[in-house]
Amino acid sequence: TGLVVAMDGPSGSGKSSASRGVARALGLRYLDTGAMYRAITWWMLERGVDLTDPGAIAARAMEPVLSMGTDPDAPSVAVDGVDAAVAIRTSEVTAAVSAVSAVPEVRRRLVAEQREVIGAGDIVVEGRDIGTVVTPDAPVKIYLTASADARALRRTAELTGTTVEAQKAAMARRDTLDSTRKADPLSMAADAVELDTTALNLEEVIAVVLRVIKE
Ligand code: C5P
Repeated sequence: TGLVVAMDGPSGSGKSSASRGVARALGLRYLDTGAMYRAITWWMLERGVDLTDPGAIAARAMEPVLSMGTDPDAPSVAVDGVDAAVAIRTSEVTAAVSAVSAVPEVRRRLVAEQREVIGAGDIVVEGRDIGTVVTPDAPVKIYLTASADARALRRTAELTGTTVEAQKAAMARRDTLDSTRKADPLSMAADAVELDTTALNLEEVIAVVLRVIKE
């Protein structure tokens, strides 16, 4: 079977750019599992589901139909046949996604779909629980970290109308929610390679990951 590269880490650690770059360099597919949690969250916000009520989230967790495109040059996400690539990146979705991703019914559904997409492999998969839960047998697992300041700076550079301080606060809140939830919290797999990207640029991060894969 083909190669599976599991890329986990908190927001702003550089996972997405690095994962796409590695997939591109090796001719592999790419799956952004965070986009799947965001897509469900967006769908629920659109329908006015009460996101303070885990029961309400669980009751509708199976309804939205997701379709993920795995080309690293043009990753795509559609919900009920509608392109949601832009809609899932708003600050509203970002602020709400941790409440949705903490619900076990949502996780069970998405982990199953992620395993289906992974199939026979040849793919780089990024998320929070890829090396621990989704593909614990992945031969390559990378856990990306970076200082809180570096992560907030990167995220601020990607967005408009925000400040480093506001981003730092929003990320700290999301990381706390993601790493303290009961179901599959963000954590580093025992056999993952930890890579601190604080002082590295994108090309350097990609180079280190490619070296780990070749070992
Ligand atoms: O990676 P991204 O910031 O787009 O992820 C959005 C959210 O989706 C995370 O904050 C987390 O709550 C959730 N997530 C998750 N498990 C994954 C990927 C993302 O719970 N494997």
